Amino acid sequence: MTFPTQLFVDGGFRDSTSGNRTTLVNPATGEPFGEVAAGGVEDVNGAAESAFQAWETVWRDMKPGKRAEILYSVARVLRENIEMIARLESLQIGKPISDARDEAALGARVFEYYAGAIGKFCGQTIPVSGGGFDFTLRQSMGVVAAIVPWNFPFPIACWKVAPALAAGNAVVLKPASLSPLTALVLAELAHRAGLPAGVLQVLPGPGSAMGDALVRHPRVRKVSFTGSTEVGRHIMALASQDLKRISLELGGKSPNIVFADADWKRAAESSPMSVFANTGQDCCARSRVFVERSVFEPFVEAFVSTTRKLVVGDPGLDETQIGPMVSAGQRATVEEFLKDARARGSRVACGGGRPDGKGFYLEPTVLLDVGRDDRCWREEIFGPVVCITAFDDEREMLREVNASPYGLSGSIWTNDLRRALRVSRAVESGVLSVNTNSSLHVEAPFGGFKLSGIGRDLGMHAMEGYTELKNVYVAE
Ligand code: NAP
Ligand code: MG
Repeated sequence: MTFPTQLFVDGGFRDSTSGNRTTLVNPATGEPFGEVAAGGVEDVNGAAESAFQAWETVWRDMKPGKRAEILYSVARVLRENIEMIARLESLQIGKPISDARDEAALGARVFEYYAGAIGKFCGQTIPVSGGGFDFTLRQSMGVVAAIVPWNFPFPIACWKVAPALAAGNAVVLKPASLSPLTALVLAELAHRAGLPAGVLQVLPGPGSAMGDALVRHPRVRKVSFTGSTEVGRHIMALASQDLKRISLELGGKSPNIVFADADWKRAAESSPMSVFANTGQDCCARSRVFVERSVFEPFVEAFVSTTRKLVVGDPGLDETQIGPMVSAGQRATVEEFLKDARARGSRVACGGGRPDGKGFYLEPTVLLDVGRDDRCWREEIFGPVVCITAFDDEREMLREVNASPYGLSGSIWTNDLRRALRVSRAVESGVLSVNTNSSLHVEAPFGGFKLSGIGRDLGMHAMEGYTELKNVYVAE
């Protein structure tokens, strides 16, 4: 497959100033398949400056209708290239091709949504007590730095870039070192669709070297980050110097709560993919399942039986549900968790090992009897591992759910409406779903409580996060 191998700056591809390159490894085989230019501090400085020029001279004051037309056109070109985007995503991170196609289509839909938002996202007129005329404006900020992870590289890039551009900002996008390809393709296709040069710059390169320069850069007014809580914390500290706006979408340890009155069989059949999809490398993974005791045994049996049937294999094949992990390092981290669980006496109901063959595969793993102080129970594993536990009392269960320092996502299964509402209110989490594990919607806010982050992606909430609010008062 051919793919871009350079930085995308000022509307075109070019090498990094240092000439450094990053080797890309196919997670399904463990073999290198190419190299991509790795940016550094000089490239950050150049890209941020030219993004600022593009914002000031072209994008900020473009008529809203024209900006919307360009973003619709980007969506159209992305749609025409779904298969190519999906193939590259699958190659670089081992994502099953059917998921990669869905996510490429999601990226296009996000551009459509925000193209449409341009003419609908507006200020207010306010009847201030002294009379006169008072109104608010939602104005662009300038240059936004978007720093994105490797687990959902294309859709996350789209859901940061599209609202930021729709709100009138220019963007410098830094993809994860493991997944630069679809970010570069996004920039290339967006420019082919008519996005003016400089409005979107894409800089692959090491976060450790480029991250601080990007966050600190005086032209950058807002940093939108998705990734680990550790790096999120670091970005927040750096951004505090200049009071830069931030939004952070970080880790999770999300609950899946199953009451005995629910259609628990359906829950048991659909829930394995709520934690094992993307090989568990999902900030929303429902990695702690709380099942009411009276249905615990049959629930576990059904969950394990569904898990055993999941198709683990070549991410390039249509039927594959679970691909490899993204890297040898990520798999080794997860295996440390499993070692700890075994040492502490947890039961492995299924999985726990590496399938035969090459690539960074790890079997979907169900753990029982995990202690409340064990690492697997408390920490985000970011791999195909779930802990299932029984509960007797709703209040005690909720206390344990909320004892997690995270609060990103979660599911509740019950047919009792009052219980569904009561528990939805009680769980400390930014996103919840009832009688389904589907919790991400382009039109609705997405983000976390507590260590899971600050601010919201998606919906009109993201538009708020990419604008400053100005109040203007006109005397009568
Ligand atoms: P990470 O270090 O937080 O990486 C996320 C993004 O931040 C990447 O683009 C990374 O670039 C960049 N970055 C790294 N250090 C930076 C810095 N000092 N300043 C600015 N940007 C920086 O995550 P990871 O190391 O790939 O994964 C570690 C753990 O994070 C995972 O095991 C998981 O628990 C969590 N995680 C969560 C999510 C999520 O969706 N919330 C996504 C990914 C990972 P490089 O790739 O060049 O380092
Ligand atoms: Mg890291």
